[in-house]
Amino acid sequence: MIIRNGAVFKEDGTFRVEDVYIRDHKIVASREQAADDTEIDACGLLVIPGLVDIHSHGAYGHDFSDADTEGLKTILKYEKSCGITSYCPTSMTLPGEQLKKIFATADEAAGTEGAAAIRGINMEGPFLDVKKKGAHAAEYIRRPDAEFFRELNEASGNMVKLVTLAPNTEGAMEFIDAVHEEVCISLGHTGADFDTAAEAMRRGAHHVTHLYNAMMPLGHRDPGLIGAAGADPLCMVELICDGLHIHPAVVLSTFRMFGRKRVVLISDSMMATGMENGQYELGGQAVTVKDRKATLSDGTIAGSATNLYDCMCKAVSFGVSLEDAIFAATRNPARSIGIYDKVGSLTVGKEADILLVTPGLELKQVI
Ligand SMILES: [Zn+2]
Repeated sequence: MIIRNGAVFKEDGTFRVEDVYIRDHKIVASREQAADDTEIDACGLLVIPGLVDIHSHGAYGHDFSDADTEGLKTILKYEKSCGITSYCPTSMTLPGEQLKKIFATADEAAGTEGAAAIRGINMEGPFLDVKKKGAHAAEYIRRPDAEFFRELNEASGNMVKLVTLAPNTEGAMEFIDAVHEEVCISLGHTGADFDTAAEAMRRGAHHVTHLYNAMMPLGHRDPGLIGAAGADPLCMVELICDGLHIHPAVVLSTFRMFGRKRVVLISDSMMATGMENGQYELGGQAVTVKDRKATLSDGTIAGSATNLYDCMCKAVSFGVSLEDAIFAATRNPARSIGIYDKVGSLTVGKEADILLVTPGLELKQVI
């Protein structure tokens, strides 16, 4: 297949009008190497990489934490239809046996036709700080435990790519020492102060779960996890860009503070994404969705009702440059979980996960 005459988003963040050649679902270098002469005319369109959502709990009426393989397949198909071609289903805080059943569905749903590809599992709980639990169930929160983590990861076929950790909990630093070379440790759901967060980063945790949400705010004399993340040049930060979790001005400021290489847009979406207002669940907790806002009965925001493509568009509408928004929804998430050699840019040898979009970001085709 050949995609002709589109403005192709390059690794350096520029658009160049050129053709893209595809063979066996991979991008190849030349017309001779392309599998056939099937052409798609992309004249007037932007050609960008498929989006990579590394933090999403569900969509289209289904929750990964339901441990329902068919439900997960529905989520993956919905995501692909929205331009998200790489996806990390994300678990909530639940008992170990239940997490094992949930993780098993990721293996069973892998390779579903016409669906986003699962690039790993994001394990958001249970190693959280009860004081910053957000929409997670307090009764299943437990102290960080490398053996418990390894047991679950093995049960999943080593699919866990990210694990959230509150660094101010007992055993957190030992946990980082033990597993930081096996999995990306993401700091979050924590009341940690600056010193604790900075120590966790020194030990090898260079990722933050939904920056600003479920942590101490950035104080000028008490910078907390947010300040530690800004000061650690290796640290990548997730940002929920649904327009509800974070004020548009803070989204824009975060891109300026962290630069174009360190912001990872995420949806943090729950099952109401793609559905009408109504009553839903997130990890077994009742959630009400009204006007795209998902909340528990006490008013706590419980995930978003937005997919990553819409988050990328929102970032642009807030004043983030188109190029930076694309990087934050493709390259940066791929790099953060170590899959940038396979996806995240339109580079020869990588998966041909490609979106054709108008200059106004209307999604035309997912390849
Ligand atoms: Zn969360």
